[in-house]
This record gives sequence, C-alpha cells and structure tokens, in this order.
Amino acid sequence: MNGNTLVTGGAGFIGSHLCERLLASGANVLCVDNYFTGTKENITHLLGNPRFEMMRHDVTFPLYVEVDRIFNLACPASPVHYQFDPVQTTKTSVHGAINMLGLAKRVKARILQASTSEVYGDPEVHPQPEAYWGRVNPVGIRSCYDEGKRCAETLFFDYYRQHQLDIKVIRIFNTYGPRMHPNDGRVVSNFIVQALQGNDITVYGDGRQTRSFCYVSDLVEGMLRMMDTDRDFTGPINIGNPGEFTMLELAEKVISLVGSKSKLVFGPLPQDDPRQRKPDIALAQSKLAWTPKVSLDDGLKETIAYFRKTLGTRSDSRMVERPAGNALGISS
Ligand code: NAD
Ligand code: UDP
Ligand code: UDP
Repeated sequence: MNGNTLVTGGAGFIGSHLCERLLASGANVLCVDNYFTGTKENITHLLGNPRFEMMRHDVTFPLYVEVDRIFNLACPASPVHYQFDPVQTTKTSVHGAINMLGLAKRVKARILQASTSEVYGDPEVHPQPEAYWGRVNPVGIRSCYDEGKRCAETLFFDYYRQHQLDIKVIRIFNTYGPRMHPNDGRVVSNFIVQALQGNDITVYGDGRQTRSFCYVSDLVEGMLRMMDTDRDFTGPINIGNPGEFTMLELAEKVISLVGSKSKLVFGPLPQDDPRQRKPDIALAQSKLAWTPKVSLDDGLKETIAYFRKTLGTRSDSRMVERPAGNALGISS
C-alpha cells in the first residue's frame, strides 16, 4: 500500500497497531492524536521511521493536510474514558467526523470510519448482523458514545450520497491486546492487571453477560482488507471474533493463565450494560475473505505478557481512576 495515509487516534491502542502495519506495507503515515487516552509511548518506536509523522491535534478542530486515505479512529473507547467528559466524546465523534469528511471531500481521499458494535446497544437480535438497527438509549450514560458513533455513521452515508465520497464503515466488536491502557476500566485490561497484582477480580453484575473478544492483529487485518475493497462496497461491516464468553468465563481464563490467586468480587452492573454481544461476521467472511485467527487463550497470553512487562514502567499522565458508584451512574 503506497500513498499518504492519515490515522486519527493513531497514538491509541488500535491506532498504534494500525500505524505499525501501514508502515510495514510501505505507506507514509501521518498520525494525528490529542493524547487524551493515547500515549507517546505507544508510538515512540515508530518515530525513527522517515515515513512516519506525528501531529498533536484535536479532530474537533479543522485539519488541512494532503492525504490519500484516512482511517478515522479518534475517540475514547472505554466507558470510563468516554464518560469522563461526555460532551467532548460526542463532539469528537460528530465534529471530528464532519472535519475528517470535509477533509476527505476536499482532497478526494478514501475514508474509513471506526464505528462500533455499540450502535446495536443492548441487542434483542443475537448474534448481531449489520442489518439490525439496534436498541440504544438516547439519554443514558453510554449515549454520548453510542449516539455519537451512530451520528458519525449517518454523516458518512450522507457524505456518500450527497457528495459521492469514497467511504468505508466498519463496526468493531470488543478488541483487546498489547497497548491497551492499563487503567481504562475495560474488562480484559482490568482482569489481567488485577490478576497480575494479586488483587480481587471485579465482576460487575452476576458476570453472566457476554462479550466476544477480538485480538488486535485480527482486527487490523480486517480493517486493512476493508480499506482495499472496491469503491462500491461501503459497509457497514462487522469486524469481530464470534467466540462468545461470559465475564465469569473470562475471569477464570485470566486467573488460570496468569497463575493468580485472585478471588472474584461482585459489584453492581453499570447502567445500560448490554447483556449479550456477538458479531455475525458472514459479510466479512464473504466480502473480505476474512476470519479471525487468534484464539482467546492465545491472545490473552500475549496481552498478559505485555502487561507483565510494562506494569509500573508506563508514564501515563492521563490515567483516570474509575469514579466511585454514582459518578459513573452505576445502578444498585
Ligand atoms: P483508545 O482510547 O486507545 O484510542 C483512541 C485514540 O483517539 C487515543 O489515542 C486518543 O488520545 C485519541 N483521541 C480521542 N479524542 C481525540 C480527539 N478529539 N482528537 C484527536 N485524537 C483523539 O481506544 P481504541 O480502543 O484504540 O479505539 C480506537 C477506535 O476504535 C475508537 O474510535 C473506538 O471507538 C473504536 N472501537 C474500539 C473498540 C475496542 O474494543 N477497542 C471497539 C469498538 C470500536
Ligand atoms: N475541513 C477540514 N479540512 C479540510 C476541509 C474541510 O477540516 O481540508 C472541515 C471544515 O471545518 C468544514 C468541515 O470540514 O467545516 C466540513 O467541510 P465541508 O466541505 O463538507 O462543508 P463546509 O462546512 O465547508 O460547507
Ligand atoms: N466488566 C466487569 N468488570 C470490570 C470491567 C468490566 O465485569 O472490571 C464488565 C462490564 O460490565 C461489561 C463487560 O465487562 O459487561 C465488558 O466491559 P467493557 O468496559 O470492557 O466493554 P463494553 O461494555 O463497552 O463492551
């Protein structure tokens, strides 16, 4: 892949892996990030590459650069982080999408949106196919993220219909791997960090809610394949691993892989927490010839090894402690 590629949110967890893969494939990469949840550590190893450039910038403000392709990932992804400043979260999704679409329109770039399984909300259809419109609360504590991402999808499809933009929309399901923020409150990083430190494993609700976890290298592969599809294929398309696990199963796996003596403790389920989630990936399998390859056990081993190595050595300045109870809207 040649040409100039912009990755917004490139210093984040997924973005940094994407930048790495793009550089390996020969692209010139411009990484744009405001370091809200991303870190310089995530991309330090790329700075010596002459085809890599980093720009500190907030996508809610206009951006004038010359690029051929845009991967729009800028947006905090974990509930703790996106609920920290919910107005800014919606602005990032909506104003950020408008600015990146305006940029794509001016320079005639292909643009891919990192959307999310959250557009399905707490789903009544299981597994979730792309044709399902979702069940989303418009006024709850997750809405800044869910509705922001839904509105961004709307903008992508309106720029496509109204301005003939070359768009791609992927819906990412829970993704994990090295460089997840150790303190962002997501279940995989929480459980691993807790198990490694010998602390209690915090299970919310009865732990029977399900998620499907995709390893980051599989996700990036799907993302790149989607970017390379014919112009008439826009998506939306689900990218995720259909293996479905309860949080209790995940906790047991993590404890056993770490070899930890940690005990489970149960806390209240956060408001609007989806009961179940699993992607229907038939479309990705047929259109992208893509299927995830990394099992949960193998992916967890890699992620545990990363946290074992880096815990205590990261110098994150933006760590956000999970606020107690009501501040997060946790219902009792
Ligand atoms: P992340 O928080 O590690 O990365 C997001 C990046 O965006 C960070 O580097 C952050 O600093 C940056 N950012 C946030 N607001 C910004 C702004 N206004 N301007 C510029 N940069 C900004 O999260 P991630 O898991 O890497 O997620 C990347 C993308 O993938 C997000 O758009 C997220 O919604 C989407 N996604 C992720 C998952 C997942 O499970 N990880 C699931 C569904 C969708
Ligand atoms: N924009 C940008 N970079 C560009 C072109 C546009 O950031 O290279 C932003 C600009 O803020 C603009 C928005 O994208 O308001 C939407 O652009 P569009 O051309 O769709 O609409 P406009 O608001 O200019 O009528
Ligand atoms: N969860 C949990 N313990 C934790 C963090 C999360 O039991 O320490 C649960 C959470 O309530 C949800 C699931 O794990 O049911 C996935 O949470 P995460 O924040 O990783 O992602 P999302 O809810 O956005 O899918």
